Amino acid sequence: MRIDGHLVTPHGIQPGVLEIQDGIITQIEARSNVQDRFILPGFIDLHVHGGDNADAMDGPEAVARMARFHLSHGTTTLYPTTMTRPWPEIMDALKGIQHVTRQGITNGPDVPGAHLEGPFINPQRLGAQPPFTLQPTDRELNDILALDTVRLTTLAPECCSDAAILTMAQHGIRLSIGHTCATCEQCQHMMRIARTQNGVIGGTHLFNAMPEVKGRNPGPIGALLADDDAFMELIFDTHHVHPANFTMVRKAAGERLMLVTDAMRATGCPNGVSSLGGQEVYVNNGTARMGADGSGNLAGSVLTLDQALKNACSHGASLVEASRMLSTTPARYMGLNDRGSLKPGMRADILSINEHYNITNVWLAAKSN
Ligand SMILES: [Zn+2]
Repeated sequence: MRIDGHLVTPHGIQPGVLEIQDGIITQIEARSNVQDRFILPGFIDLHVHGGDNADAMDGPEAVARMARFHLSHGTTTLYPTTMTRPWPEIMDALKGIQHVTRQGITNGPDVPGAHLEGPFINPQRLGAQPPFTLQPTDRELNDILALDTVRLTTLAPECCSDAAILTMAQHGIRLSIGHTCATCEQCQHMMRIARTQNGVIGGTHLFNAMPEVKGRNPGPIGALLADDDAFMELIFDTHHVHPANFTMVRKAAGERLMLVTDAMRATGCPNGVSSLGGQEVYVNNGTARMGADGSGNLAGSVLTLDQALKNACSHGASLVEASRMLSTTPARYMGLNDRGSLKPGMRADILSINEHYNITNVWLAAKSN
């Protein structure tokens, strides 16, 4: 199969044709006469709780349903994300995600594993997470390692022992600083410990559920931005983060910035009452707030990654930069060497967008959906 258009690559946009065989890009031919559309690598969502009224906590069918919904918005790889609930509920959810990882989803995105968001977080910085926080002990760590499905965890450095950090880093679990009150020094200590075991560090929805940057107290945001290697997520629905802060981080973090949705089950559903982690939320025109009347804090988002692409591009990012934030960098963060850019040898997880940046087609392993 051949797909032609203006190819969005990390090095720029160039007209060309992708040759695809058995779900792999085998060759790229430069051409000047191609269809008037942009071709991008499929999006990778590291932080997504649900969509289309399905939630990652609700078992394999719900995981498949939310995954198919996000596929229609350009996401070809996703990490279903658990909520901070009592430990047995989290384990049930992880088993459901593991089932999907093993079986795959027919005509659906790839699910390489789960994002465990909490319970190893600070009860003072719950955000929209329910109050079932834990400090990781051998019991929880053994449970996770036995299941071998958690690839990424959001944690508060001040709530985790050095031993717990070492264990997770040793097993390749990405350690994402979030829902935390940590100082810059506490974050840097955690990074040092993790990196003795080649641990990879990230930040969960930068700015949200963490202390602000102050002149003498840079906190997690300062620690992550000032670091050379730490990656960071941002929810850029224009509600969770001010556009000026998006621009600041885009300039400061460069190739370490990744856009995520943090989407909840109400994503893709009409306005009204929905739920998140067993709590009521009210969704109204692109925002979700806690409480049945929507009077509380911002909850998860109702963002999709195609909208995140539009938001990034309408606030100063080039299409090349936006594609990097949505595909190339998350692939590099998670060690997914077979995807995230348009190159020979990569999986043919590909999408096309028109001049308004609306998705016109998504291909998975060369099958059109
Ligand atoms: Zn979340």
